[in-house]
Amino acid sequence: MILLDGKLTSEQIKEELATEVAKIKSKGKRAPHLAAVLVGLDGASLTYVNSKVKSCEKIGFGSTLIQLEESTTEAELLAVIDGLNKNAEIDGFIVQLPLPKHIDEQKVIMAIDPDKDVDGFHPTNFGRMALELPAFIPATPYGILELLERYQVETSGKNIVVIGRSHIVGRPMSILLSQKRTVGDATVTVAHSRTKDLKSITKQADIIVAALGIAEFLTGDMVKDGVVIIDVGITRVQDATKKSGFRLAGDVHFESVAPKSSYITPVPGGVGPMTIAMLMKNTLLAYNRR
Ligand code: NAD
Repeated sequence: MILLDGKLTSEQIKEELATEVAKIKSKGKRAPHLAAVLVGLDGASLTYVNSKVKSCEKIGFGSTLIQLEESTTEAELLAVIDGLNKNAEIDGFIVQLPLPKHIDEQKVIMAIDPDKDVDGFHPTNFGRMALELPAFIPATPYGILELLERYQVETSGKNIVVIGRSHIVGRPMSILLSQKRTVGDATVTVAHSRTKDLKSITKQADIIVAALGIAEFLTGDMVKDGVVIIDVGITRVQDATKKSGFRLAGDVHFESVAPKSSYITPVPGGVGPMTIAMLMKNTLLAYNRR
């Protein structure tokens, strides 16, 4: 069993990006700049946004964190987005999801300038991605592609089961893996909450991407020997032995699945850090395109 070390790989990517940024700055040009908008005080979201900002600092990007009150109206948020769209100093920005219930997420995503949409959530980018045109690929699927590529995991002709059909992970992942690309050319099955007899499907899989958000859902009896496992899930599970009172659990029951796997991502330290690294890569791409 080989651990797909997302932490290590993401550090390498960030070093590569830092070298690029140093080159840009040595020519007297300004550094790429990422902005992040956070609405409300969700603990997990705050942690994610803070690590994104920290990564910017590490690479040498400029960063701006815009923290808005939970009570921010949709109109107020749309005005902030309009400002970011127009701000020539900002190359890309993200609006951290989920948003408070009174704000229409789709409306917010639609308001982002596709050229600054480094999360790749705008329909223009999603459509371009699906049509294999240059696009911002959503950071989590992009990170998974990169991890598989750097570990030279063969995907061509393989049976891949993606569990989950969300717009930010499962759906784009399934599209990308079925495309003709370096990491792709796979036969992809998308499983979801209405899938019947999931075990009979996962048992056939050469590679499984688990992105359903249920802690330790995929167990050893559901996979075949030699399977490649990508665990996207991050769920906070109560744990009195931790100072924080919780631990982070993936969608995969690591103890029973790892011994049967040829490659597996850990949680934490797998897909999570890769997501952040690829967001940084998208920001540099946005900068270079402008
Ligand atoms: P989501 O809640 O939007 O979607 C979950 C999907 O799982 C749905 O499509 C649903 O149909 C499917 N599903 C639910 N129960 C199922 C079941 N019993 N069997 C099969 N499919 C089932 O989730 P999401 O936003 O895609 O996130 C999924 C998980 O990944 C969450 O734990 C989230 O925190 C995590 N996540 C991690 C990263 C990262 O960077 N590591 C990024 C995004 C999301």
